[in-house]
Amino acid sequence: MFAMPCRRSLAALLTCLLLIAFSGATSPAEAAAPAKNLIVLIADGCASEQHTFARWFKGAPLAYDPYQVGAIQTFIADSVIADSAPAASAFATGVRTSDKFISVGPNVSVLSTLPQPSEELRYRPLATVLEGAKLLKKATGIVATSRVTHATPAAYAAHTDSRDAEDDIMEQLVHQGVDVVFGGGKRHLLPKAAGGRRTDGKDLLARLAGWGYQLVETREELMRVRAGRVFGMFAASHMDPEIDRPRSNPGQPTLEEMTRKAIEILAQDEDGFFLMVEGSQIDWACHANDPAYLLSDLLAFDRAASAALDFARADGRTLVLVMSDHNTGGFSIGGRASEALYTQLSVEALLEPFRKMKQSAYAMWAQLGKERTVPRLQTALREGWGLDITEPEARAVLERAAAYKTEGHAAIGAVLCPIYTHVGWTTHGHTGGDVPLFAYGPGKPGGVLDAPRIAHVCADALGLDLARLNERLFVEASGALPYAAVALDTSDPANPVVAILARGQRAELWVNRNLLKFGERLIPLEGVVVHAAKTGRVYLPMQAVHLIQGKTPVLPPVAK
Ligand SMILES: [Zn+2]
Repeated sequence: MFAMPCRRSLAALLTCLLLIAFSGATSPAEAAAPAKNLIVLIADGCASEQHTFARWFKGAPLAYDPYQVGAIQTFIADSVIADSAPAASAFATGVRTSDKFISVGPNVSVLSTLPQPSEELRYRPLATVLEGAKLLKKATGIVATSRVTHATPAAYAAHTDSRDAEDDIMEQLVHQGVDVVFGGGKRHLLPKAAGGRRTDGKDLLARLAGWGYQLVETREELMRVRAGRVFGMFAASHMDPEIDRPRSNPGQPTLEEMTRKAIEILAQDEDGFFLMVEGSQIDWACHANDPAYLLSDLLAFDRAASAALDFARADGRTLVLVMSDHNTGGFSIGGRASEALYTQLSVEALLEPFRKMKQSAYAMWAQLGKERTVPRLQTALREGWGLDITEPEARAVLERAAAYKTEGHAAIGAVLCPIYTHVGWTTHGHTGGDVPLFAYGPGKPGGVLDAPRIAHVCADALGLDLARLNERLFVEASGALPYAAVALDTSDPANPVVAILARGQRAELWVNRNLLKFGERLIPLEGVVVHAAKTGRVYLPMQAVHLIQGKTPVLPPVAK
């Protein structure tokens, strides 16, 4: 077997040596991976009918129209209808999980059609394709128009059983070392005393600055960034709806501007990059049954997708996925006002009402303030949507809004769309149908895919072994260190510490961070420490386990 054909001639020997040299210089992943870069764009809460509506309004094809390859089944572990946290977790990790969960395994209450999750999987942190891309030495980025701690972006970079734990999510996101983070949510970087919302007193902006991150807060500052690691925090909470932004917050960049800048920075990494972009507020527009907000945010998403596709077409080694996590609002072209004449609906009759809409319902409602009266609402609708509504109609909106309590603005579209437009809504919640899947570039999928398949499509495209990635990033501490005493020290509730006594030494790891304090040394880790409160289990990167055991870390390759 060892008698090599290379012996036969000098030429063959040289060829053989070259092949050996070549295989040494190129990792198997590079040889196997069809894509160098991966851009995932998520239109939150959107299905085909919304895309059709946006295309009519745009008067031209959407950027991703040529690339529809299939659809996605969106159901989650415990419901036929998805919510963003488990839906994005499926995209990010390849595992279908429970409502509210951010990239941790499901609990026991699953749909009757699904098998029970294993004991070991419950609440276990699940490695994401972003974490995998990082270990493949690729640059990583997250762009959203919501707080970056909101469910969809969170699912790519954090692990918790509560999507509302945004302080924890932000601490993990900061300690993940994501190169580019653009969106809203500055309030979760700062303690209350410094104008933020954090109740634990932590100043994460100072940590980022200490690690050399650039911090930008306006479009102008963003445009000046050319390279390096950068956090762009353009709002304390969410960014503004696209339709209102030019008046309410003109200093905020658009989704397209954030996407183009993220690509410009990330593409400088010679190992490639992973970028997730979310059109976060398409979902909220549909929750609010607001067609003006929907059109403007979906067309802003279309321009961001166009930027990604421009890059991918020029680059040739970039896979772009455009998809949604679920549908919202039960939106339809055709509604009560077109019931009797749906076969005679002209383009003008469909579009005319929306051409007059200059504000979101949310902004009109906010203008009313506490004075929610018929005349004030009539004025707001005249100015914002170009509608002269009657007194009974205004009263109907105000009555519905009172019933909706905090979501008063959602009454505007719900009451007025059936009267003044040819679009319909069936709910303020989500709906359970398949959503379209668009893909361009090497490794693109096809057919109707189950949501968790998306993570496997991403992993295959990047040449990433998700199973080994999970082994490497999340080791259950007491199982891996049977002779050590592992305890969660909560004497400082804001800074829970995993304390491990092993070999006469005390190791400390802060929950939600990527740091190991061992003796006098502070060692940065390749992943974050996660505490699953429901099971009491603690998960550490394998690197930390090996260091605590006194070994030089020997880590399994995550490249296929
Ligand atoms: Zn969603």
